Amino acid sequence: MKGSWVTTFAVGGVILLLTLFLGLQYNWLRQAGEAERERMQRRVEADARSFASDLNREIQAAYFNFGTNAESWEKADWTEFNERYDYWKAGTQYPELIREFIYLGKNGARPLRYDAAVRGFVNAEVPSDVLAIRPLLSDPDTFKMFYEDMYALVMPIHDPEKEVDTIVLHKIASGPAELVMPKSEGHLLIMLDRDVVTGRILPDLAKKHFPDGDLRVAVDDRNNETVFATGPLTGEPDAKAATFDLTADRLMFFSERTAIPRLRTTGSGNVAVNELVESHTFSRSKAVPDGVKEGRFTIQMRSKTPGSPGTEQKPRTSVLPAKGDSTGLWTLNVQHAAGSIDAFSRNEFRKYFAFGLALYILLVGSIVAIVLSAMRSKRFAQRQIDFVSSVSHEFRTPLAVIYSASENLADGVANDREHVARYGDLIKGEGRKLSAMVEQILQFAGARSGKRKYNFSPAKPSNVVAAALRECAPILEEKGFEVETNVDENLPAVNIDQEAIASALQNLISNAVKYSDGSRWVRVSASNGNGTVKLSVQDRGIGVAGDDLRHIFEPFYRSRSVVDAQIHGNGLGLALVKEIAEAHHGTVHAKSEVGKGSEFVIELPST
Ligand code: ADP
Repeated sequence: MKGSWVTTFAVGGVILLLTLFLGLQYNWLRQAGEAERERMQRRVEADARSFASDLNREIQAAYFNFGTNAESWEKADWTEFNERYDYWKAGTQYPELIREFIYLGKNGARPLRYDAAVRGFVNAEVPSDVLAIRPLLSDPDTFKMFYEDMYALVMPIHDPEKEVDTIVLHKIASGPAELVMPKSEGHLLIMLDRDVVTGRILPDLAKKHFPDGDLRVAVDDRNNETVFATGPLTGEPDAKAATFDLTADRLMFFSERTAIPRLRTTGSGNVAVNELVESHTFSRSKAVPDGVKEGRFTIQMRSKTPGSPGTEQKPRTSVLPAKGDSTGLWTLNVQHAAGSIDAFSRNEFRKYFAFGLALYILLVGSIVAIVLSAMRSKRFAQRQIDFVSSVSHEFRTPLAVIYSASENLADGVANDREHVARYGDLIKGEGRKLSAMVEQILQFAGARSGKRKYNFSPAKPSNVVAAALRECAPILEEKGFEVETNVDENLPAVNIDQEAIASALQNLISNAVKYSDGSRWVRVSASNGNGTVKLSVQDRGIGVAGDDLRHIFEPFYRSRSVVDAQIHGNGLGLALVKEIAEAHHGTVHAKSEVGKGSEFVIELPST
């Protein structure tokens, strides 16, 4: 009893610990999953930014490098242009990116095309779609730095000496930031090769920044057309980055570098431009003067020559968007292949937790199975002990009878023939009982070890019933039993080991006698089932309680009530009946009610 409490506590403790671990694992996984999700999000954003800035660098190099002075175009001196072109080619991984250069001079001058053979620009016919954009270039409202249809970057060519004197910066409260552009002398069209952009640069960048394939990349142009994608994107992307950005170096419009240091703040002092770096980008002062709000500002230029000095010109071209504005012409979208980083980390969490849960169920299941099997073994061992003691009991009575009868014979107590014959019958009867018991035990052992051989042959069910009743006739008669038989003579023959089935029926009949509780009635029937033949033995004896009914076919099981009532037996009879029925691909089951009686049915396949 004490032992079982210790076991219960130990098992309960282990299961509790495992459950605690499961809970902890759930928490760890959640926290780790959240940290991992944030890490991935940051990494994807950073990678998207590097992807975008790599593309920017490539495009900006192909653009700003060619910001030459109008003077060289007037003089048709291509030295500077060639230097710049060579410099760009030496530095880029994609020299095929620029298909060709076209120069559109002012006032409808004949277009020029760069001829690599002569290393200079020559008069040329240009396609009509290129000519079609010519009028758009001189109007700041229609001017674009990149015409997607043609993949043409447009670099305005200025003459700063002629136009620019001072650059004035104004802070404005709201509205687009604007730059007064010097009048352009002409436009250089840098024609890009679309296939190099979408077929080489973008795939290379995707491979470089998102090599694992778990993240999908799509690049959309300003019309929201996808120009490149590594896979379909659905819903919101995990990270976005503006790219194809021609903003950073816009001040390079002032191709005359000496103009740049002349930048100065206006008297109002609203904006401080304090830094000029070699890449020609400007940043706003970190120390914004008191009372100045961060915001957009205007860069205006004053012309040296016409108009009254100091008169501000009308702002014309939008240039510097405020901090946070999307400045790229294209958008890079990155999305996890699982739909989103959130979905991915949720899936990962589920996967790992399911694994932990499965492990938990496995462990708890194993513990429960071990405990149940230990309990079963204990029960079985107890039943075997009960079996040994009940068999010894069973053997003791006939042995005692045989012993005293033979003693009487030896002592000459029985001296006439009649007495001797009586003692002889007694010894024979008890001897038969003993050998029947031994036979049953041996049969059970044989059936259990699978060594028992059955001789199947077609047999009439009525013959089997008759054989069993014949064998049981002495005991039935002795106990004065009324035997009712209900055998359907038209039953089909069954393929059985006749002797084995008859002995199974005998077991059931002798149980009916043993547990009759003085009722003296038994009915043996054979009837047709659904594709089966049913052999049943019914009694009006003590019956079996529900709890016991579940176990009575187990070897060595005897219900507590019959043990207490000292009804002899070894608990093997029904186990043997079950073995025999199953060896015939049949079943055996019992219906019973305590105090009213029982019915045992063997069901055998009829074909
Ligand atoms: P034994 O009869 O030797 O105990 P069995 O295997 O034949 O072993 O039966 C197992 C148990 O089933 C019996 O101990 C008894 O409790 C119960 N039992 C079997 N047959 C009957 C019956 N006809 N009426 C009531 N109980 C029965």
